[in-house]
Formats: sequence, structure tokens, C-alpha cells
Amino acid sequence: MKETKLLTEGIHEPGLHTLEVYEGRGGYRSARKALFDMTQEEVLEQLEASGLRGRGGAGFAMGKKASFMPEGSMEKYLCCNADESEPGTFKDRLLMQKNPHLLIEGIIIGAIAADAQRAFIFIRGEYELQAKILDAAVTEAYDKGYVGQGIFGSDRMLELVVHRGQGAYICGEETGLLDGLEGNRGNPRLKPPFPANQGLYQGPTLINNVETLCNTPMIIEKGGEWFASMGIDESTGTKMVSVSGNVQRPGNYEIELGTPAREIVYGLAGGPLEGRTVKCWFPGGSSAPILLDEHLDLPYTFEAMAEAGSMLGSGAIIVVDDTQPIVPLALRLAEFYRHESCGKCVPCREGTNWTVKMLERLDEGEGTPMDLSILSDVQENIMGNCLCVLGDSMAMPIGAMIKHFREEFVQHMEEARHRRNLTEVAYGAGELAGSAEAGAA
Ligand code: SF4
Repeated sequence: MKETKLLTEGIHEPGLHTLEVYEGRGGYRSARKALFDMTQEEVLEQLEASGLRGRGGAGFAMGKKASFMPEGSMEKYLCCNADESEPGTFKDRLLMQKNPHLLIEGIIIGAIAADAQRAFIFIRGEYELQAKILDAAVTEAYDKGYVGQGIFGSDRMLELVVHRGQGAYICGEETGLLDGLEGNRGNPRLKPPFPANQGLYQGPTLINNVETLCNTPMIIEKGGEWFASMGIDESTGTKMVSVSGNVQRPGNYEIELGTPAREIVYGLAGGPLEGRTVKCWFPGGSSAPILLDEHLDLPYTFEAMAEAGSMLGSGAIIVVDDTQPIVPLALRLAEFYRHESCGKCVPCREGTNWTVKMLERLDEGEGTPMDLSILSDVQENIMGNCLCVLGDSMAMPIGAMIKHFREEFVQHMEEARHRRNLTEVAYGAGELAGSAEAGAA
């Protein structure tokens, strides 16, 4: 199977990260077109006609989101969410590292659509190399007058700042990102008000993911209808998919939306190692409820993944083969979300901690059959009861694991209990406790 390369066409061309090479390939033509040949409404129309949906996780239509920005002379902002922290996701890293001017051009077009005068790229703290490359590209764009005061010789202003995060997963949540950008601890805000009405510094703010913005130059160049002619239903265009886990060729692949997931996992990524099979897979990062091998025959679209009980999310496919036990996987996942919870609301703060502790009990042979029911209840009580999506991001995949692999959970628990009993018989419970105390001393 072949990729459908639009964003990634020639992405490894030497020097593409420089303005000279990017312009040599026709770069910044779309920004000029949007600025001089189109009105703000026409730019919005094309974005809406394209059906482009957010590529960061939520999948909200970009054109519609931009159209929510209020009219008026108040200062408006555009924030590019480059805090790519969802486990399994590494597509924005490639785009920023190899083609930073594509993102800058996308930001210019997004800012025209939103009538924003100031833009920020909030980049994940760990992406040091990519931040340096972006900084250099932004400096080049300033030197050429493509951003700053009077962009491209017009009377429009667009200041652009690259801001590095400090390594908190929660800053990828759009309102946590705004808090982080304002210099505060990254805590999600209560919505409404939504950022389009009251975002950065209380001003109207459009927030878009890196890949989403990178799609806008070609939409302006070739038209929204052209973009919408690719894909299925409301999943238009191409999607960059980060494939990782138990596959032979992990990496980023660009596919037309609607491609069967099996072709991505087996055709592009080579499938699991010889003799192994797909036990389950995350279709959209670690927050997405797991699906099974049979779901690989579904078209990879926002709609099909939702109908199957999961989500396309950030487009990160994590494959788990049949040699992997499910309980340690669930535990590792829960530990991650417990660590990243900001602690602001009870169901998430306590629920992630409870989940870790119960999975540890289960894994160490201290679990009882009732624990599994409590574990399921905890997940159900987290879902829909949190301020932001982080709580659900743990509860949904763990809930799906219990649903699909309940028998394996029970078996794992019984085997662990059996091993523990054997150890106690061999050494004596008292001796074990004694040696533990001695060790602690
Ligand atoms: Fe913080 Fe978790 Fe509540 Fe989100 S769900 S606000 S991360 S405590």
C-alpha cells in the first residue's frame, strides 16, 4: 500500500526547514493569496468547504471554529497547540522539524481567518530541537517581513512567538495551554466561556493543532472542494498517522482518511512480528478506548472509530500483540494519567490514584474478584464527571480493557494470588514480613 502524501511530500528534502528552499517550492504563495486576493470571509468559506477537522484530538471543524471568533476591533489571538504529549503521537514533531515554514504559513492563514493580530506556538518542552528550528524559521520570517508589522507589505500586523512548555501533559488541553502561556500553572479552565469568546488574556482566541494549520496553505491554494474530495463522509483530506507498538515498521504515515485500518497497520507498518497477531490497538493515542483485531477492517475515519466505541483522536495507532499481558499495560497507562492529573477535580485526582492502587493489588496477588467490579465502577464514575478530558482519557481505555479482556484480568489476578500463596508457604508469611522489616531497617 502507498501513502497519500500531501503534507509529507518531499518532507525529507535537504534544507526544507529554510525559507529559501521552502519558497523555492512555492511556499508562502497561499499566505499572499489569502492576504491580497481574498477577504476574511472567503478564507473562512474555503476552510469550511474543505471540511478540515482538528487533527489534535477533538476533531472539531476548523472553519467553524474560526467562524466563532467574534467580530470587532478587540485584540484577538491565535494559539498553535504544539504540545504534542499524547503517548504514541509524534507527527507534529516531524512537521515542525522538517517543514517549519509550512506551519508559519498555516498560522498566517489561520490568523487571517480569525482576524488575529498575535499568534503563539506553544511547543512541548521536551521538543528542544524542534523549538530551535522553529525559532530560526520565525526569525527568517520576521527578517523577510512575512510576520511582524505590515506583513508582506500590507497594513496587517501579526506578531508570532514560540513559547516552550515545561513538560506538563495537561498543557495540551486547550485551556491548560492558555494558563501555561499566561505564565500560570497549567490548570484547565471551566467551559464556557470557550476560548473563541474568552481565551488568552481574556481575549477571543483560536486554538489549532500543528497538523491542522499545516493543511491550510494547500486548501487556500487548491480550494476547499478539492480537499473535501478526499476521504469519506465528514472525514476529509489526509491524516498523518503515528504507528507504534508491536509493529515491524513503526513511524509516521500519511494516508487518505477512510483507508482501512488494516492497510495502515499491516500494509504500511508491517504488522506484528512473524507468528504474532494483533491482540488490541489504540486507534487515536493512549486516551482512545482499545479496539480489537476485527476492527482493523473498518475505514480509518472519525465516524467509524466513534461508531466502534473509540475515537480517531490524534491519529496515533498503538498496536499491542498477543504476547503482551493486559494488566501491566493497564497499570502503566493508569500510572501515566495519575502522574499527569493536575489534581483540580476529585474524580480525576482520586480516581486515577485508586485505579493505580487497585491494579497494583491485582498484579501483586492481593486482588479479589470484587476488586474488578470496583475497578469498573471507578472508571464509570470518572467518565463525564471531570472538568477536562484527562480523567476520561484514563477511564475510557481502562474501561475498554476490562470489557474486552475481563477473563484475562481474572486469570492474571488468580495466578498472581497463587504465586503469592506459594511464596508465603515456602518462606512463611511472618518471615516474609520480618525480612521486609529488616530490609526497611
Ligand atoms: Fe485536572 Fe484531571 Fe480535573 Fe482535568 S480532569 S482538571 S487534569 S484533575
